Amino acid sequence: MAAILGCIADDFTGATDLAGLLGRSGMRVSLRIGVPAEPPCDTAPFEVIALKSRTAPRAQAIAETRAAFRWLKEAGARRFFLKYCSTFDSTAEGNIGPTAEALMTDLGIRQTVYCPAFPENGRTVFMGNLFVGQQPLAESPMRDHPLTPMRDSNLMRLLNPQVQGSVGLVDRTTVAQGEQAIQKALEALATQNIAHAVIDAVDDTDLERIASACRTMPLLTGGSALAMSLPALYRSEGLISGDTALPSAPRLARTTVVLSGSCSAMSNRQVEHYIRQGAPSLCIDPLEVAQNGQAAALDWLEKQDLTEAPIIYATAEPAKVKHAQSKLGAARAGALIEETLAFCAVAARDAGARRFIVAGGETSGAVTQALGVSQLDVGAEIAPGVPWTYCHSAGHPIAMALKSGNFGAEGFFDDAQSVLERT
Ligand code: ADP
Repeated sequence: MAAILGCIADDFTGATDLAGLLGRSGMRVSLRIGVPAEPPCDTAPFEVIALKSRTAPRAQAIAETRAAFRWLKEAGARRFFLKYCSTFDSTAEGNIGPTAEALMTDLGIRQTVYCPAFPENGRTVFMGNLFVGQQPLAESPMRDHPLTPMRDSNLMRLLNPQVQGSVGLVDRTTVAQGEQAIQKALEALATQNIAHAVIDAVDDTDLERIASACRTMPLLTGGSALAMSLPALYRSEGLISGDTALPSAPRLARTTVVLSGSCSAMSNRQVEHYIRQGAPSLCIDPLEVAQNGQAAALDWLEKQDLTEAPIIYATAEPAKVKHAQSKLGAARAGALIEETLAFCAVAARDAGARRFIVAGGETSGAVTQALGVSQLDVGAEIAPGVPWTYCHSAGHPIAMALKSGNFGAEGFFDDAQSVLERT
């Protein structure tokens, strides 16, 4: 069937997060890695294109976002969702604002909304300020992110330098009054020529009200949670019908590899926990890789029993990350790790691994690219925003769990394996 909602995500785990939450509706969600070279075919009602544009140069991010938009439009989508991280990961240059503005131009619209809130994962927005649990964004571990350190918690201030149009707010008092109040507030902002409306949300009910108020807007932007209510709304509008069920898991060998290139606080806890449980583990350090290359990691991997789900990780505390970055530069340190983990993924596949658990958005991008994966079907959910996905690599059916830095509980790596066993 034709796509109903066309989604563009600025990184890979963001895309799986969004696809997973849309998949909770029980309807088919197809996830494409990058803009497909071929014209749309076998499209699902929910199509998600994963870009790697979060930290790309601005012009490149805009060009890729536009190309994704054109493909989704050709697939039949008339409504679009620009997905970014629930911690609004971006820099003063972008890329959230510039890509949203480019889509607004292509759609010929004068206003869109910005709602990164993901209450189930502790991300809430109040009076335009983003909180991670009880901490303002700029006081959360996100202030030390290797690529997009977030040093301000106010979304209007963060967005303002990224866009040409004006930025405004629909605050919680309005959102709490419901759908019509939200629509009126947006209209009032539009009459003041405010093109970019940040919207508060502190719980799922707020998000439902916002989704309902904004469901006919051609473009919504936000975290994945805002999109979660859309399938039910579309079904009630009669836009979706019939045979759109999620696929079941393929039968796969229990050969697994865990690759973690995320340095987020939760990934640090998850890696430590997994190793404490006795998983075979190898730590890779960018300084050592810079000096000696990837042979040590590949040698270690070759000796592993993949049914024990070994882990290779670069995950480290902020001080260690800073030290490596000061010696190599942040971009080179990141690229060395991404490349090494990507090589390890390919070597693991060639050695028979069929289940891949990957931590880190950029890391997941590098790994999927190296495995030559271009389309994934969304399957069982492991944790909020992290589903298993099913795809092919070098002709083999494989399953991949792509986890964004701070997602999942402490036992995530074990949780992922148990969920796949049960499906
Ligand atoms: P997250 O989802 O937590 O943001 P990402 O994979 O998107 O994780 O980003 C983490 C970045 O940090 C990647 O580019 C990764 O290669 C880099 N990185 C990982 N480990 C280290 C390290 N020990 N030192 C420096 N950079 C690192």
